Amino acid sequence: MTEDKGVIGRLVEELTKLPGIGPKSAERIAHFLLSGDRRNILPLADALRNVAEHVRPCKECFNLTDSELCEVCSDPRRDPATICVVETPRDLSIIERAGNFRGRYHVLGGRLAPLDDMGPDRLTFTPLLRRVQAGGVKEVILATSPTMEGDGTALFAANLLAPTGVSITRLARGLPSGSSLEIANAQMLADALDGRRAF
Ligand SMILES: [Zn+2]
Repeated sequence: MTEDKGVIGRLVEELTKLPGIGPKSAERIAHFLLSGDRRNILPLADALRNVAEHVRPCKECFNLTDSELCEVCSDPRRDPATICVVETPRDLSIIERAGNFRGRYHVLGGRLAPLDDMGPDRLTFTPLLRRVQAGGVKEVILATSPTMEGDGTALFAANLLAPTGVSITRLARGLPSGSSLEIANAQMLADALDGRRAF
């Protein structure tokens, strides 16, 4: 069934797809956007178009970037000998905000979830292994979420990397179990990184 909702209806519909935005909030936002100076909407539209067209995975670590290499990978002050493995670019920015990590990252693109058909081939394990095999990496920190699936993902990565002899560590416990890194505040994450232990 296709129903012509009109341009405002379509805007409301798109806004409803955003996390935490129900139909009422979507309608409020739509009317807010339409109530002021229309020219003020255009920077938002441009920003959305730009991320849609230009943001892609970093060719080294799979973080999001609008260049070949992301900001972390292209920063010579970041230590290439330590790689922090995270599930998503969002987790990466959460750890960045904690502020005490000076190494580089590797973004897996999710976590293993066999029941949801999320197998190892859908994550960036092979490029991670290649980075470690290329040499120069001393430590890999597994910063997957403190959930059963996150633990399974970390275990898979640890087994994959074990033959390379690289030192493998895991964030210290203390993050709320069964949650995502999003829940942790900056200080908790900084402590979990500082207190990391051998896997
Ligand atoms: Zn990168």
